[in-house]
Amino acid sequence: MTEKFIKNEQLNFIKKQIAIIREGTKKNVPPNILAAAIDLANLKIKELFPNASLEQQKRLDLSKLKTDKEYELYIQELSNHLLPFPRITEQQLKKMFPKHKKLKLPDLSSIDHSQLTYLSWNDLRSNKKFIIYELDGKMIGIECEFTPTSKKNLCSFCNCFGEVSYFSTVTKAKKANHPDYYRAIGNLICADSKECNKKITSTEYVEAFLKDSQCI
Ligand SMILES: [Zn+2]
Repeated sequence: MTEKFIKNEQLNFIKKQIAIIREGTKKNVPPNILAAAIDLANLKIKELFPNASLEQQKRLDLSKLKTDKEYELYIQELSNHLLPFPRITEQQLKKMFPKHKKLKLPDLSSIDHSQLTYLSWNDLRSNKKFIIYELDGKMIGIECEFTPTSKKNLCSFCNCFGEVSYFSTVTKAKKANHPDYYRAIGNLICADSKECNKKITSTEYVEAFLKDSQCI
């Protein structure tokens, strides 16, 4: 069996490094600068997998690659080692949002679980966005209100420029003297989570946001 050890956002990170190298090649940057860029990319990838076995390190090493075809094959090979997003059933999703009696569910069978850092879908009728993520080994789900806009801006999750919407969620934090106080957190996030999942290279922001929303 092929060993799965790469997460979606990690492969996106690797692809981004390759895009930087390829751009340098196209722009004919001096060979020593290109070599330094390749070394740096390799180092960053290595840092992303601090517990990688020797075999995994060998797979991840891109220092010998030169042509577009070689980079393409390298990505293809790594794609075989993607760790899929944990399987979740419709029943489990319903349980996460008990307040929604008629919860609109995503079509789980049509979602490629190997290309997911977080699972999310929008309910346009109620202007809600649902986000599912495995935080510290536990699947959690939160819901956000969203204001439909089709503005182009930076997404907080993937840090890329694209079509975003404004999402707000209310934290469960309460101030001792103000039992009615709820703090809302607002974010600009890609309206299309499929696109966001293709671009996200780090879970740092998502995790901080979820922890804040859940007040863990
Ligand atoms: Zn995004």
